[in-house]
This record gives sequence, C-alpha cells and structure tokens, in this order.
Amino acid sequence: MIKPMKKLVVVTGATKGIGRAISELFLSKGFSVAVCARNVFDLEEMKLALGENCHIFKADVSVKVDVEAFGQFTLDLNLPIAALVNNAGVFMPGKILDEPEGNLETQINTNIYSVYYLTRKLIARLRIEESSHIFNICSIASLLAYPASGSYSISKFALLGFSKSIREELKTTSIKVTSVMPGATLTDSWEGVDLPESRFIKAEDVAQAVWSAFSLSKSAVIEEIIIRPQLGDL
Ligand code: NAP
Repeated sequence: MIKPMKKLVVVTGATKGIGRAISELFLSKGFSVAVCARNVFDLEEMKLALGENCHIFKADVSVKVDVEAFGQFTLDLNLPIAALVNNAGVFMPGKILDEPEGNLETQINTNIYSVYYLTRKLIARLRIEESSHIFNICSIASLLAYPASGSYSISKFALLGFSKSIREELKTTSIKVTSVMPGATLTDSWEGVDLPESRFIKAEDVAQAVWSAFSLSKSAVIEEIIIRPQLGDL
C-alpha cells in the first residue's frame, strides 16, 4: 500500500526547548518535520526518538551558506510545506556599551538574517499550498528593552519588524504570518538560573499556542501571540 504523503513543517533550532516542543506536537498531529541544529549528536538522538518522519540536517543558521543548504534540503524532500517555524535564536546577555565586540553581529546573524534568507528560500513552495503558515519566534524582548540584553533586544525588535513587514507583503496570499512573543520559557537558555519552575512558561505551552493559531480556518490569522508566565516577566 502507498503511504499517504505527510505535509512538512520546517523548524529551525529544534533539538531542544521551544523548537523541540513544536516539532513533537506537529509530529503527533500527523505532520512530518524538517529540523536543523548545530550539534549532530542531538540531531541523531532526535531522529532516533521521533522516527522516520523527523528529517534532520546539521546547520548553523548564523552562517548564510548553512541556511541556504538547510532550505535546499527541505525543498529536496519534495513534500508540501504546511509551515515554516523560524525558531532558532541565541541570547547573549550584555549591555550595549560594555559587551564584548561581536555580540551584536552573532545575534543579528542568528536571530534575523537566518530568518530573512530561509523565508525567501522557501516562499515559492509555501505559496503553492492552499494554506500555509510562517511563525516567527520573537520574544517579549521584541516589545520591551531589558537593561542587560541590549543586543538581543535589537535583534528581536528587528525580527518583529521583519514579521510585521512580511505579514503585510503576504496579506493577499494564502500564507499566514504569526509573530510569537514568549516571555521567560523554561529551556536550556536559562541553565544555572536559580528560580522555581513556576516563574516560567513551559515550552509545551508555546507549542500549544502555535498549534492553536495554525488550526484556525483559512480566513483568519492570529497575527501576534504574547505569552507570559502567569506571575509576570522575570
Ligand atoms: P534552547 O532551548 O536553547 O534551544 C535552542 C535550539 O536551537 C537548540 O536545538 C540549538 O541546537 C538550536 N540552535 C541554537 N543556535 C543555533 C544556530 N546558530 N543554528 C542552528 N541551530 C541553533 O532555546 P529556546 O529557549 O527554546 O529558544 C528558542 C527561540 O525562542 C529563540 O529564538 C529564543 O530567542 C526564543 N525565546 C526564548 C525564550 C526563553 O525564555 N527560553 C523567551 C523568548 C523567546 P544547537 O545548540 O545544537 O545548535
């Protein structure tokens, strides 16, 4: 018997945290996923845990040729692309005036250029679908400046700017765009921070919010999701 073709969801930075939770949720709903990360052992572990519908690719999204290669890998799977989740991001704490040289460049390359180039690479395939969806994982730091994360905020404000702009460009098409602004979410990004779990959002809750937005009928889009810990920002 011929197996039905599973629609693809592309997720960057998906071996851990929010990307992993989104990938697992879409897999559980019957989609296949194409994911990337830098650590090949984590990618192989993910494939082993999640099975043949999880397509893995080693890429550092801060490097343009890697982004292009990951995009080509997803296109070569020859599956209809239902969603692109621009999730990979890096948080490097520091103040604009005294952080080490290069902090801004690394965060801009990872958090914004990667999204720009991957979205451009996949857009023609996304357009073919009757309905498809781009999620950009921004941050509360896309809305507010924090004193010790200046360059991160610059990159995440830029990502929200990208997300709003592409939403305008795609308004008359079948491609939806959602900007996701999570507050503190309990992932490896917070390793070493001594705070109770109750101060954080769970990665699974962010995934569930993404799924809810994805599940609406064709004629409605949730443009922005703001999700915070019940106890407020950290
Ligand atoms: P995480 O748990 O640290 O996981 C990051 C994932 O992205 C890993 O799979 C990592 O794998 C991959 N990754 C990191 N840099 C990469 C790169 N240059 N190229 C390819 N893959 C890369 O992260 P998270 O906390 O879930 O964050 C996910 C997104 O949510 C980010 O954009 C972050 O800014 C945003 N966000 C997070 C929070 C939060 O509190 N956690 C709040 C708001 C927004 P490798 O290390 O193997 O590459």
